[in-house]
Amino acid sequence: MVHFVGAGPGAPDLITLRGAELVRGADIIIYAGSLVNPAILSMAGSDCRIYNSAEMTLEQVLAVMERAPDADIVRLHTGDPCLYGAIREQMDALDRLGIAWDDTPGVSSFCGAAAALGAEFTLPGVSQSVIITRMAGRTPVPEGESLEQLAKHGASMSIFLSAGMLERVQAALLAGAYTEDTPAAIVYKATWPEEKIVRCTVGTLAASGEAAGIRKTAMIVVGGFLSGSYERSKLYDPAFTTGYREGIQP
Ligand code: SAH
Repeated sequence: MVHFVGAGPGAPDLITLRGAELVRGADIIIYAGSLVNPAILSMAGSDCRIYNSAEMTLEQVLAVMERAPDADIVRLHTGDPCLYGAIREQMDALDRLGIAWDDTPGVSSFCGAAAALGAEFTLPGVSQSVIITRMAGRTPVPEGESLEQLAKHGASMSIFLSAGMLERVQAALLAGAYTEDTPAAIVYKATWPEEKIVRCTVGTLAASGEAAGIRKTAMIVVGGFLSGSYERSKLYDPAFTTGYREGIQP
């Protein structure tokens, strides 16, 4: 059986208990290259065969899976497999081959980046949405989802796979609802020992990334949620009645 597993953003203790159990019991692990912390691979048994999918095609990955129909195979993806993991094509191929699979989620790097920043994406009075996206690169982005279009919402934004194109990201954000002063941050390798946080504004995004020498493995986050002002929550307001608590008038 093939187990798709989210390895989490980097720190080895951020894989789920279920994911760690599957890694420990795996006969074969196919991991997604440098973004998976080697410390997670070292949890595997000594007989486990380990492949780095960064050096493989989809066909080669499937061939490994097909050659060992009775093995417990862990397909280890970074963060959560459901974001930019290219898992759907693997799942569909496994279905065609009659090989069973399941999927264990992980902590995505956009959550790891928020934790590193000590930030909440969904602040009352600021934004109640997080846009997860990327800049078009060699993989195109549908026109209606261009960064310029999505930036029109002014929502909290988490931009993957784009740290090498900061100038274009900055220009696209400024073409939307963000201004030069909108807070932004670049989080390099969130939750890894070498994590680096660069706080800046949309207007200084490209220059700040350049100065810090960050070109890859980084999350760009943008929005008013990184500033100091917001409204307190209704949920924990003493005057607010919920299904679990009677509000008291001051
Ligand atoms: N499935 C993964 C994303 C894979 S795409 C997830 O859920 O996180 C790879 C991109 O994710 C990188 O280019 C970078 O933008 C981001 N990324 C992955 N790990 C990261 C980390 N520890 N810190 C910051 N960004 C990270």
